[in-house]
Amino acid sequence: MGIVLGVSDTRQYLLERVDDTAVVQVYADGFTTLPLRDKILAWHLYLAALAGRDIYYDQRHALNLDIRDLLEAILRHAQQVEPVVLAEIRRYTKLFWINTGPFNNLTARKFVLKVTRDQLAAAIAAAARAGARFDEPADRLLDRLAPMLFDPSYDAVVTSKNPGHGRDILEASANNLYVDVRMSDLDGFDERYGLNSRLVKGDGRLVEEVYKVGGKYDRDIRAIIGHLEDALPYASAALAASLRALIRFYRTGEKADRVAYDIAWVGEQSSQVDTINGFVEVYMDPRGMKGAWEAIVYYVNEEKTQKIQTLAAHAQWFEDRMPWEPRFRKPQVLGITARAIDVVVETGDSGPVAPLGINLPNDQAIRERYGSKSVSLSNVGEAYDKSTLPEFRSEFAWSPDEVDRATKWSAFAGELTTNMHEVIGHASGKVDEKLKGSPQAALKEQFSALEEARADLVALYFLPDQKLAEIGLVSKTDQDEIVRTEYEGYARNAIVQLRRVRQGTTIAEDHMRNRQMIVNWLKANTKSIDVRSRDGKTYYVLTDVRAFRDGAGRLLAEVQRIKAEGDYAAAKQLFETHGVHFDPMLRDEVVARVEKLQLPSYTGFVMPKLEAAKDGSGAVTDVTISYPQDLTKQMLEYAALTRGLRR
Ligand SMILES: [Zn+2]
Repeated sequence: MGIVLGVSDTRQYLLERVDDTAVVQVYADGFTTLPLRDKILAWHLYLAALAGRDIYYDQRHALNLDIRDLLEAILRHAQQVEPVVLAEIRRYTKLFWINTGPFNNLTARKFVLKVTRDQLAAAIAAAARAGARFDEPADRLLDRLAPMLFDPSYDAVVTSKNPGHGRDILEASANNLYVDVRMSDLDGFDERYGLNSRLVKGDGRLVEEVYKVGGKYDRDIRAIIGHLEDALPYASAALAASLRALIRFYRTGEKADRVAYDIAWVGEQSSQVDTINGFVEVYMDPRGMKGAWEAIVYYVNEEKTQKIQTLAAHAQWFEDRMPWEPRFRKPQVLGITARAIDVVVETGDSGPVAPLGINLPNDQAIRERYGSKSVSLSNVGEAYDKSTLPEFRSEFAWSPDEVDRATKWSAFAGELTTNMHEVIGHASGKVDEKLKGSPQAALKEQFSALEEARADLVALYFLPDQKLAEIGLVSKTDQDEIVRTEYEGYARNAIVQLRRVRQGTTIAEDHMRNRQMIVNWLKANTKSIDVRSRDGKTYYVLTDVRAFRDGAGRLLAEVQRIKAEGDYAAAKQLFETHGVHFDPMLRDEVVARVEKLQLPSYTGFVMPKLEAAKDGSGAVTDVTISYPQDLTKQMLEYAALTRGLRR
């Protein structure tokens, strides 16, 4: 592979830094070559994605939208605000937008606004003089919002899966999925809407507020439905069927309609443009039940899709060789649809902080009967890679060889591993029938991290397999080098990621727990990773590729057994021992190293912007794409689109 200098090397990916966050522009070059019909389809789905954005704000905290309104009103009328105060409000607001509220999406902990209440009151007064309108007197507004804005100990953690001191996980979690509810309230409670409701305990009675038309989030959901209906005439028959099923589910909220939608969504496999829109991932709920709202609109990246489909076409080959007990192998891996996509927009739980790969639906029963759809987000991965600073690799790599390998191969190895994680990882394996298709229920707060570990381990285990060269996904001569690069990077990242957890000594985020668990387990149980020190700096050094691979296989067998049998005690033990806790001294060292180099901890993405040209009758005649390259501008534009819904 040579180095290709193209348009992507000259344009701007990294836009700005806010504390330890990088703000990066996503590009969607293929959009302009889509047929007009697909562009118009994407346009309506794009509006549907923006229409539900405020739902996720509200799910993350009951005061999120009030705080956002306040901050945005000040920023839109900032002329007379004290410059020092304004700078801090800008910093805080950018982090607030990127994280959809004041909780760091990696640590789940709250960050605060570093001005005084009086300074904020003065900023509100200055904004009001410049024309900002507030619905309530500043004093009352500040009384309501001050604890959230200024007090780090008030509602300190959005999702607390291990609060300790015998605290209840629902009470310890600041999110808005439960109101005055404890785990004990759920004993014997008949929860009909596990995924799509908020549980509220009013006057001693537990009530499910269902997310649907006529229920919670009625106005937002109606707006989403309106745009989905506008999209129907431009959708293929199969996509239209899927969108209609989604609309029906939004109307009724009933589980049977959610199942019908999931089946229709998985069944649609040929549309060039597609969307995810709804209550999907359950990471925010400490119980792992309630779905966080998200939306993604994307089109298929044909070139990269071919590579993934090659992998998918051989899924059965991998399944038959999974290093776990044969009774946990699927005799027939069904319907894996794997595509590389370019996102046009991501909102809610999937933006501005965006995943790199997605495999849905999460309903295990549907996955086993109908398969799943798996997508790798090519243009997000590209933006991430292009914005990564080279110091990242050199600071934490033991040798110059390791740096060279990473520079040459890490993007390639990362993409291949992500594809394997999604296509043959998540899609693999069978669970015991006694779990009734829901290992989540048995594994509770351990489930998500365990499942991520399972998918990672499948990828790590098969990466050196000669099958990959046989089917043309790597060249035979480069494979050893690529495997080494990926294993080195995997081990190295277990240290590097500690920079993200600046407080406490435990890890909350499931993907991070997964990586800690795997690397620490390998350190404890194999001779593949050496911990070395040089000039007071710690390094995780890959010493034996073979031992790493064998260890990954052994651990994978156990992780699959735990999932398949719903062995909660074993899952908890595995993560408590290797995944949750870390040495704060090592973290402090890593933080000092990245601070010295000013390296970011995570990335928030600025999305492309679509605009429609309309004729005299209001019909859309063309859709254009552009790149705002400005987080603030984009966030204020988005807010303007949904503000009308809440008044
Ligand atoms: Zn995953």
